[in-house]
Amino acid sequence: MRFYFKQIKTANYKKKLFSKTPMAKEIETEQDFEHQPCPLCNERTLILAEREVEVPYFGKVYLFSMTCNNCKYHKADVESTEQKEPVKYEFDISSEDDMKVRIVKSSEATVKLPHLASISPGPAAQGYVSNIEGILNRVKYQIESAKEMEEDEDGKKNAKNLLKKITRIKWGQERQKLIIEDPSGNSAIISDKAIKSQLRVKVVK
Ligand SMILES: [Zn+2]
Repeated sequence: MRFYFKQIKTANYKKKLFSKTPMAKEIETEQDFEHQPCPLCNERTLILAEREVEVPYFGKVYLFSMTCNNCKYHKADVESTEQKEPVKYEFDISSEDDMKVRIVKSSEATVKLPHLASISPGPAAQGYVSNIEGILNRVKYQIESAKEMEEDEDGKKNAKNLLKKITRIKWGQERQKLIIEDPSGNSAIISDKAIKSQLRVKVVK
């Protein structure tokens, strides 16, 4: 995603050089580019936004987002300003306080909540800075949407139980393991309780 931004930025900077910009010292912490071509519908209705944010105990990250006003395409991602190593984080959710634990999750990360749900990486995946509660809310939303589509009674019941489980985890009444694996290294669980290890990346030869 950063590559896409670089292309747009270069094109826009060239334009900027010719228009007179009195601000020579532009601190690049926040930038929006409107009327960009949308990768999905090809209309020039895409808004690109880039923010540079300092995440305590992790470092500086770029937050990117693309939003199309025409086809409603939306993609967000997070990337560290430094090169990072493939990483794995494990965390034991055991209290209400854990809800506030900060999470950096890139679109390349796999989030596993064993016996509950998982979030897969891929082109449609989003990257964001959130907390454990935010992750649980996203999973809750996924299960709720799936439940509405479900026609089978057993499937409905199963979804209902999973939603109850999420509520209990949020209240600190049930323990839950959380695992985040990211080959790009752009993800983290920011807590002393989190166990960080090197992720072994399978190399396809
Ligand atoms: Zn579009």
